[in-house]
Amino acid sequence: MSTKPVTLYDTTLRDGTQGTGISFSVLDKIRVAEKLDAFGIDYIEGGWPGSNPKDAAFFEQAAGREWKHAKIAAFGMTRRGRMKVDEDSQVQMLLAARTPVVTIVGKTWPLHVAEVFGVSLEENLAMIGDTVRFLKEHGKEVFYDAEHFFDSFRENAEYSLATIKAAHEAGADLIVLCDTNGGSLPDFVGEATGRAASHLNSPVGIHTHNDGGLGVANALVAIKAGAVQVQGTMNGYGERVGNCNLTTLIPTLQLKLGMNVVPDMTMLREVAVFVDELANVPHDIRAPYVGVAAFTHKGGLHVHAVQKLARTYEHVDPTLVGNRQTIVVSDMSGQTNILMKARDFGLELDKGSPEVARILQQIKDAEARGYEYEAAEGSFELLVRKALGRYQPLFDLKEYHCHYRYTGRAGSDPCEATVKLLVGGVHEYTVAEGDGPVNALDAALRKALKPFYDWTDDVRLVDYKVRIIDSARGTAARTRVLIVSSNGRDTWGTVGVSDNIIEASWRALVDSFELYALKDLENAPT
Ligand SMILES: [Zn+2]
Repeated sequence: MSTKPVTLYDTTLRDGTQGTGISFSVLDKIRVAEKLDAFGIDYIEGGWPGSNPKDAAFFEQAAGREWKHAKIAAFGMTRRGRMKVDEDSQVQMLLAARTPVVTIVGKTWPLHVAEVFGVSLEENLAMIGDTVRFLKEHGKEVFYDAEHFFDSFRENAEYSLATIKAAHEAGADLIVLCDTNGGSLPDFVGEATGRAASHLNSPVGIHTHNDGGLGVANALVAIKAGAVQVQGTMNGYGERVGNCNLTTLIPTLQLKLGMNVVPDMTMLREVAVFVDELANVPHDIRAPYVGVAAFTHKGGLHVHAVQKLARTYEHVDPTLVGNRQTIVVSDMSGQTNILMKARDFGLELDKGSPEVARILQQIKDAEARGYEYEAAEGSFELLVRKALGRYQPLFDLKEYHCHYRYTGRAGSDPCEATVKLLVGGVHEYTVAEGDGPVNALDAALRKALKPFYDWTDDVRLVDYKVRIIDSARGTAARTRVLIVSSNGRDTWGTVGVSDNIIEASWRALVDSFELYALKDLENAPT
C-alpha cells in the first residue's frame, strides 16, 4: 500500500461506464488509463473481464504496457453459491486479466443474500472468504467491495460486520464500504465507517454514489472517520446520477485538507475535459473546480476592478486546478499551462514573452470558435509551431469535394472524395472512395501525398468522433471532429471545427498529416 494518507481508486472505466451515454472503445480506455496514470491516480479499475470482450481486450493490452505510477485493477464478483472457487469461470477470468490488483464485490445485506441470490447467510460468508483467499494465494493485491454496506448496516449491523470480517480474515488488503444506492447521509456514513474500522481493527476504504447529491460529502466524512482509500469516477460518471466525483474530491482533499494525493493538481481540468472528450459527452460548465463557469465572473465594471473583485468570489485560485478566470483580458495563468505542454514536445518558451501571449490569445480565440485541445494534443502542437514560425504547410490546397450516393443496396453506398492540391509546385488530382466522408477524404488525401512522402502508409486513422457543440464558451452550434491517428507506436489526437461536418473532418485530418510530416522531417537523418 502507498504511503499517501488516502489512495485514489478510479473506476471511471468500470462503474463510470454504467452511466447513461458513457461508452469507451478499447483504445479510449487505454488512453484514459494513461491520462489517469500521468495524473497520479493510484489504482485504475479497467473493467470486468468476465462481462464483455472489450474489457478483456483492455486487460490484454494493459498487461503489455508500462505504467508510471498506477496499478491496474480487474473487477469481479465473489464465487457463485454452491460451487468451488477454482471452478468458477468468472473468478478464473480475473486471474487471466493478469492485473496486480483484483477488486471483488460481495453481498452484505441479508435481504439480498437470501431473497435475490437464494443462498444461505452462511454460504455467503464462505463465498466471500473463499474468493479472497484464492486470489491472495495467486499473489494478488485484493480489495473487497462490500456492496450495500450502509443500507445493510442500518438494518442488520451484526451480519454486515460479519461479511467484512470474513473478507478481512481471508486476507483482503482492504475492505471498501459501498454506499451502493447513494442515498445515505453524511453523519451516518461517518459513524458506520468508524464502527466498521474499529470492528476490523484495520482501516477501510469508501465507495459512494451520488443519488442524494452527497457522493463527495459522504466520501469526505468517511475519510475523516479513517477511510484510507476513496473510490470514484472522473466527472462523476456512473449509474443513475453517478459516483463520487473525483474531479471535485481530489482538489478538495489536496487544496483544502492538505492531503497530498496527486503530484500536479494543475492537470486537473485537462484530465476532466480529456475524459469527457473521449466519452464524447459535453463538458459540464458548472462542474466544481473544472467547469468553464467555475471561475467566470460577470461584471460591468472596468476589467481591472472586476479582476480584483472577482478574487473575493473564488474559493480557490483557478490556476491551481488548471482552470482560469474568464473575464481577464490577458493573464499569466494560462501561460504556465502552455509552457509546460510545449516542453512536453520539446519546445522551450519563456513566460511573459510575446510569443506565449500570442499563443494564449490564439487558443482563446479558437476556444471561442468551439475548439478544445485537451484530447487533441496534435493540433495544439501545430498551433504552437505555427505561432513560432516552426511550421511549413504540406501542400497548397486548391479544392476538395466529397459526396455520398444512396443506392439502397446494402454495403454499396460509398462516399466519394476528390482532392486537388499542389505539392512543391506539382499538381495532384486524386479520387477515392470510402465508407464515410472522413474515410473517403482520408483515402484521397493519402493518394495525393503518397508520391511525395514515403510515410503516408505509416499513419492510420484509428478513431473518429463527432460532436455538435453548444455555446459553452459563447459559440453558436457547430460541429467538432476529433480524430485519433497512430503509426503503430505513437498515438496523437487532432481536432477540426466548422459549421460543416466535412470541413471539420478535413481540418482534423490535415492536422494529423501535417503534424506527422513535421516530426518525420525533424527526426530524419541529416
Ligand atoms: Zn458503485
